[in-house]
Amino acid sequence: MSSVAPETVLSVHHWNDTLFSFTTTRDPGLRFKTGQFVMIGLEVAGKPLMRAYSVVSAHYEDHLEFYSIKVADGPLTSRLQHLQVGDQLLIGRKPTGSLIMDNLKPGKNLYLLSTGTGLAPFMSVVRDPEFYENFEKIVLTHGVRWKSELGYFEHITDDLPDNEFFGDMVKEKLIYYPTVTREEFENQGRLTDLIESGALFEDIGLPPFDPETDRVMICGSPSMLKDLVTILEKRGFVEGTSHAPGDYVIERAFVEK
Ligand SMILES: Cc1cc2nc3c(=O)[nH]c(=O)nc-3n(C[C@H](O)[C@H](O)[C@H](O)COP(=O)(O)OP(=O)(O)OC[C@H]3O[C@@H](n4cnc5c(N)ncnc54)[C@H](O)[C@@H]3O)c2cc1C
Repeated sequence: MSSVAPETVLSVHHWNDTLFSFTTTRDPGLRFKTGQFVMIGLEVAGKPLMRAYSVVSAHYEDHLEFYSIKVADGPLTSRLQHLQVGDQLLIGRKPTGSLIMDNLKPGKNLYLLSTGTGLAPFMSVVRDPEFYENFEKIVLTHGVRWKSELGYFEHITDDLPDNEFFGDMVKEKLIYYPTVTREEFENQGRLTDLIESGALFEDIGLPPFDPETDRVMICGSPSMLKDLVTILEKRGFVEGTSHAPGDYVIERAFVEK
């Protein structure tokens, strides 16, 4: 069986000049764990041009959904941003990644810390009832520069609590904490600063990070990852892997080239 299969684009949504989402058909044989990523791409000059993308959609949905940056001169996204309904997209058949529940020890509160397109895997997490069953609170943070970069804002605030199957758990357990750095907003500042100063915890009404009770998943820019890991390890958090579940897991939202 080929490691890459063509799927058809079902919808495209542009959030602003730099971000868009799209859905595709899903081969029923493609199974993934909530939080994983796959390789997706287009055929360019007769060869597949593939990049890693976190799956945004839930594992039980019939389609796949992705959330993408538009890099002006990016080899893939300069093309991908012109996707139209009905186009073919190549999708890798080997989902992988560290942001999965199996890599975490049981805990009380789950923190999902994201910046930019790092929100993508966590959109799949907040649509997975198993996570609500396993944690008392789920705190979804999303750090961006501008308000227009808060993709999925209305989906999180309006649609998720109304979900007919798990909306009640969302209302009881999900705390959404978007934050903006470059214009006025209800929460302002870098996530790392809000965590270090304790402002985040005061705002959401939970105690500061504690490895006894808290589990953390992080997906964002390489520099944000580095800063957050330093903060967590200072507080005694241990990274989880597939060999030894831990207190936190990380995934880069992209690689600096
Ligand atoms: C594990 C993993 C999961 C990923 N998941 C996603 C995802 O869900 N959505 C997504 O848009 N991208 C994601 N990426 C990044 C993605 O693989 C590509 O880098 C991106 O699509 C740009 O591709 P490109 O060929 O246009 O440019 P590239 O040559 O890949 O990148 C060019 C430059 O653009 C910048 N850049 C790339 N991606 C981003 C980004 N997401 N946010 C900010 N700056 C960026 C970097 O500075 C990079 O050096 C992921 C990367 C990894 C490693």
